[in-house]
Amino acid sequence: MQLISPQHITAYFQCSRKAYLMLSTVNKYELTDYETIIFKAKEKTAKTYCQKSNAQNYEIDILNNGISIVCGAKIRIDCFDFDCNVLYRKEGNSKFGNYYYEPGIFIGTNKISKENRMELAFLSLVLEKIQGKFSDSAFVVNKKGERHRVKLNPLKDEIKKAINEIQKFKDNSPRLFLNKHCEQCSFCELCKNQAVREDGLTLLNRITQKQIKSFEKKGIFRSCLKLG
Ligand code: SF4
Repeated sequence: MQLISPQHITAYFQCSRKAYLMLSTVNKYELTDYETIIFKAKEKTAKTYCQKSNAQNYEIDILNNGISIVCGAKIRIDCFDFDCNVLYRKEGNSKFGNYYYEPGIFIGTNKISKENRMELAFLSLVLEKIQGKFSDSAFVVNKKGERHRVKLNPLKDEIKKAINEIQKFKDNSPRLFLNKHCEQCSFCELCKNQAVREDGLTLLNRITQKQIKSFEKKGIFRSCLKLG
C-alpha cells in the first residue's frame, strides 16, 4: 500500500503528475534549489514558533492526555504516515471527550497558497480518523510568525476526491501536461524529455490542458502543426 503524506498532497495540487512520480519512485524526491529555500524558511518558522509557545514533540498517543499544544506528533494510520507540524487543543466533542485537536502548519513564505489550504484539509481528514471529528478550521503560521485561520469545511469534498484519485494512480496515472510549476520541480528534465519523445502538444508555449484535449479530439497533434 502506498503511504500518503502531506508532501504528496502539496505535490498533487501543484501538478498531479508530480504526486504520481513521487509515489512511484523508490528514491526520495530531491528538492530543487527553490524548494530548498522554502523548506529551510519553513523549518526556521517552526523552530521559532515551537520555542516561543513552549510546544513539545510527542507521540500521537499523547492526544489522549489533552495536552494543549503538540508539535511533531507522528501519525500512522491506514495509508497515512507523517509527522504533524503542530496540533492545538480546542473545546468540542470528540472521541477524546470534550476537546479535539485542530491542525496547524508552518510555511516558508508569507502568502498562503492553495496547496497550504489543501494540506490542512488533508490533516484534518486524517485526524478525523483518530479523534472522530473533522476540525472545520485550522491555522497557518507564515514566515513572519503570524497565525492565519483557514476554513476547512469548503475543502472537505475536494481533498477526499484528491486522495481517492491518488489511491488509484496505480491503475490510472495522470497524463503529462507541462505547466507553470515545471521550472520548480525536480522532474522537469524527465517530463520534458518524455514530452519530446511523445512529440506532445504540451511542448507548445502557453497551450492549456483544455486546448490540448480539444486539438486531440480533432486528431491534431504536434507533428500536424509542424507540417502545417
Ligand atoms: S516537471 Fe512539470 S509536468 Fe512534470 S511532474 Fe513536475 S510539474 Fe508536473
